Amino acid sequence: MRAIGIALLAACVGIAGPCPADGQLRSVTGWIDGQSPGFYRLRVGAFRVTALSDGTAVRDLAPIMSEPGLVRSIFRASHERLPTEISINAYLVDTGTRRILVDAGAGELFGAGAGRLVANLRAAGYVPEDVDAVLLTHIHADHSGGLSIGGRRVFENALVYVDTRDVAYWLGEGREARVPERQRTTIRQSHQTIDPYRLAGRLRMFNGSVEIFPGIRSVPEHGHTPGLTGYMIGTGGERLLLWGDVIHSAEVQFSHPGVTIAYDVDSRGAASSRLRVLGEAAKEGYLIGGAHLSFPGLGHVRREGKGFEWVPAPYRADP
Ligand SMILES: [Zn+2]
Repeated sequence: MRAIGIALLAACVGIAGPCPADGQLRSVTGWIDGQSPGFYRLRVGAFRVTALSDGTAVRDLAPIMSEPGLVRSIFRASHERLPTEISINAYLVDTGTRRILVDAGAGELFGAGAGRLVANLRAAGYVPEDVDAVLLTHIHADHSGGLSIGGRRVFENALVYVDTRDVAYWLGEGREARVPERQRTTIRQSHQTIDPYRLAGRLRMFNGSVEIFPGIRSVPEHGHTPGLTGYMIGTGGERLLLWGDVIHSAEVQFSHPGVTIAYDVDSRGAASSRLRVLGEAAKEGYLIGGAHLSFPGLGHVRREGKGFEWVPAPYRADP
């Protein structure tokens, strides 16, 4: 005990300035503010997949979900605070011949907490020009916003793929006058970030369930938006479903899949798609990557009572 006391005393004798008080944090040499770069690698069969963090968004979920009292009681019982941090995740699938990005983050539309996808892509060893295709799970600022910055295409060499229903809903002629007031911002932002690809002939539409590339198939999950789509990656035993916005709050919606969120275009459709997708995931046992599950958003779904439970995948030091 005595030796430790002397060592601590020697660490701060106040020669170079006043000793810091308790709780006063000092920077150390090489200090970098923020977290480690937001990427996480895994293998899915022959494909190399990199989960990329676009950052987080702070939201008080209670007033924007269909059962505010239930949301508050679940968070209280979990010792978690509201507002909470919601991850925004995207995934890069490197097939060896193509680099395919699933969702593009929020770009400049969500403030300082988000828009970090490109920095994390670079940290993972890629550059935006490497991306051959961007598959959008749907058109919403936190998924399609990162396609363009300042009206310019971020992924210059990429074709953008999205279900035809979302293009019709968000980018169709005269839509702004026909949607509810709360959706008009999304329409304006969709033009701002997707039109640069459309005008360059780089927008591709598909209808429902199709094989987009070998080993990558679209999975309709319509409801949250008319064309919400998951992407099933890999074949045979090793499969990963990148499901976009099936779940916005893991705390609430696995156990209570009927709870909806104000961002749903069709809340009944969103709830029934969620129930079906969760049921299939629990039965089939494939890996899930979720856009709003805590980064890297990877894990499995299992049945629990009348609902489901999220089982985060164990962290791997080596992919
Ligand atoms: Zn979203």
